[in-house]
This record gives sequence, structure tokens and C-alpha cells, in this order.
Amino acid sequence: MYKLELKKIKKIYNKVVALNDVNIKVKDGEFISILGPSGCGKSTLLKIIAGLERETEGEIFISGKRVNNLSPKDRNIAMVFQNYALYPHMRVFDNIAIGLKLRGYNKEFIKKKVKSIVKLLGIENLLDRFPKQLSGGQQQRVALARAIVREPEIFLLDEPLSNLDAQIREQTRIELKKLFRSLNATVLYVTHDQIEAITMSDRIIVMRNGKVQQIGKPEDIYHMPQNIFVARFVGTYRINIIDGYIENGIFKNERISIPIMTDYSGKAYIGIRPEFIEIGKGNFEAEIKLVEPLGAENIYYADLNGIEIKFVSKEKFPTGKKVKLHIPTDKVYVFDSEGKNITQQ
Ligand code: ADP
Repeated sequence: MYKLELKKIKKIYNKVVALNDVNIKVKDGEFISILGPSGCGKSTLLKIIAGLERETEGEIFISGKRVNNLSPKDRNIAMVFQNYALYPHMRVFDNIAIGLKLRGYNKEFIKKKVKSIVKLLGIENLLDRFPKQLSGGQQQRVALARAIVREPEIFLLDEPLSNLDAQIREQTRIELKKLFRSLNATVLYVTHDQIEAITMSDRIIVMRNGKVQQIGKPEDIYHMPQNIFVARFVGTYRINIIDGYIENGIFKNERISIPIMTDYSGKAYIGIRPEFIEIGKGNFEAEIKLVEPLGAENIYYADLNGIEIKFVSKEKFPTGKKVKLHIPTDKVYVFDSEGKNITQQ
């Protein structure tokens, strides 16, 4: 039995199709990221699961039970928003305890429970403060504590790190992963940040325009993107995509020609990740136009017969320098005219 199952979920706001035929199965204890650009339907999906928005079509099951007609409070789900939504007039203790109080638990039990959670999150010393006396990172922990203390069946997190600055975000990312793993919690984590999705998740759901593009483990999404959109969206360095056509196993356009292992012929795109291009050997020569130094390595934008090619190297080259490039055929993706990945392994 799945912890969460969505069948053919559709959501239309007035005339905007926010979600279209979304089918998802989540196992108990999985950490799943929902990844996609702004407006692709991520928040709408979480709200529908939580019961805060009503789906136009489709079914939702939690632990095998159909919950379409259950109100949010009866779904046993905890949602943590981007802005944390803490009660400003309540101290941290009460912000965390409120859910348990409303459920009628006794004082001693609540106290014990809150204590154990704040210890887990390292915020024991903040219990008497009001939200406005906390930093963004601390508020975020309080919001998490409030969710965790309820022991929900599913956690829904909507970009919970987006208000934190980069350094704290990275640290919190690691802590969150550890925390939810230790709780063996089932988590749906909305983000537009592919690094967060790749580093934190058991599986990633990539979305675009209300439709699921791919569901898979982070390494599969990175190594076997199902289409150009996913290939572009995932990866630290944006993938090189070149358009042209394939004829007799050769990819061509007016500027470049590369042998490809494929039976396909017709209009096509090829994709090569900057990190897989080898430098200092090979059949291509490119002139470096721009360098982005990152410290440990450099990103180069080079001109290859009029095509902009991006590659990565630890070596330092000045702009204007001509370098030899090797594009390993086994690392090249082939996409058909619709952008679908048709690479033959
Ligand atoms: P994301 O969370 O991925 O940024 P959303 O789920 O917020 O995307 O939005 C998906 C689409 O639905 C967008 O086109 C958005 O404009 C639209 N939308 C979201 N909420 C509403 C609403 N209450 N009324 C009308 N359109 C909405």
C-alpha cells in the first residue's frame, strides 16, 4: 500500500489548467521533491493533497483511504510554508504546542512532546521568545517543530528554505535530510532549486506547465532525462543543446557534424553536459569567449564554428585562446524533433 497515491489529478482555475493528469505514488518513508519552474503547479499540487484546494478531477488516497471529501484537519497532514506562518502573538512554545492543544492532549504530555522536538531541532533556548525575536532560520525550525510534533502521516513542505540566505540554506538542507530520515517520515518537498532536489531526495518529480515530465531517482533524472526540458532543468551547469538533423548515423547542421549511434533519422537535437566535454584533445577547435571562474573550476563559453559551447575545466585559459575539444559520443543525448530523449545506449 502507498502512503500517498494521486490518480489523474486535474485542477483548473477559471481557465488556467494548473494541473493536468498528475499520477503519483509515494511509498512510506520516501523523501520526494517536486521540482519545476515557477508557475508549473507545485504549490497547487501540495494544496490539493492537504485539502486546501479542491481538485477539479481525480482521486487522492492516503494510506489506502480516499480522502477527496475530507477536510484538511482530518487528513493528518502537516504543511510547512515558505513564510512559516507562525502566530505572531504566541511564544515559540505555544506556536509548537497549538496543534496538540487543539486536539485536547493533556498539559504534561504536550510539554514532554514539545521538549523532545525542540531538542531534536536545537531550539530549546527559544521557547519563551515571540516569532519576531527570531532569525529566519530559527523561525523555520519552529515551523518545522510545529509540523513534526503532530506526527502527521505526510509532511508537505513548500520551498521551506527559500527565505534563508545561501550559507544557512546549505546547512539546513543537510540537517533537514538527516532529520526526516531519522523520523522515517514521508515528505513531499516543493522546490525550484535542482540542487536541493538532487541532494535531498529519494526520488524527484519534475513538472512543467501542470504536467509531470519525469519521476525518478536523482541519478536517473540527471543521467537519463526523458526530454530536453528535464535535461536543461537538472544539472549544475546548463546542458549544451544543438539543433540539426540526423542522417545515416551522423548528426549535422551547417556548422557541425558528429557521428551518433542511432537508427533515427530526421530533425533532431543533441545534448552534451558541459562537465563531459574533454579539453586539450579531439576533433573540434573552439575559441574561448568568456570565463566564469568558480574557484575550484571554471566555466567556459566558447565559439565552435559559430555555435556557443559551454564546458568546465580546472585549467585556466584566457579569453581568445583556441582549445581542442572532444565530445565523447557515449555522453551525447539524442532528442527527436519533439524533444523526447531517444538516445540508444
Ligand atoms: P508553482 O507553485 O509551481 O509556482 P502554482 O501551483 O502556484 O505554481 O500555480 C500554477 C498555475 O496556476 C499558475 O499558472 C498560476 O498562475 C495558477 N494559479 C495558482 N493559483 C491560482 C488561483 N487561485 N487562481 C487562478 N490561477 C491560479
